[in-house]
Amino acid sequence: MENCLFCKIAAGTIPSSKVHEDDELLVFKDIHPAAPVHLLIIPKRHIHTLSDCTSSDTELLGRMLALVPQLAAQHDCQVKVDNAGNRSGGFKTLINSGPDGGQEVYHLHIHLIGGPHPWRGQS
Ligand code: 5GP
Ligand code: ZN
Repeated sequence: MENCLFCKIAAGTIPSSKVHEDDELLVFKDIHPAAPVHLLIIPKRHIHTLSDCTSSDTELLGRMLALVPQLAAQHDCQVKVDNAGNRSGGFKTLINSGPDGGQEVYHLHIHLIGGPHPWRGQS
């Protein structure tokens, strides 16, 4: 879509730090990271908001979410469990939707935010 920042990133006309690309999805680093790991997972196809998705987008949304564990492991912020069963690590996933949801870029994206956490507890 014309004049969409993330469509331009998906098309390569605006540069980004890409960490994953396949036929349908692109993942790149957020330009203003809120934590040591801050990735944005987008569909290459333009969708304004999660609010616009329907059951026909189920597979795409599932693919976006299913990428999260792989990306977290690659960036060492997966949930770890030690021999005693104690968990450490982890990340936050976030989809801002519309003005009241704090969305700034109107191309659907999942934030993956992880790493040591001055941000922990923030919504
Ligand atoms: P939203 O508030 O829409 O959920 O989040 C948009 C995110 O896009 C923000 O975290 C912001 O830092 C990020 N962002 C805005 N412009 C750019 C850009 O040009 N490149 C990259 N990599 N991220 C951007
Ligand atoms: Zn777009």
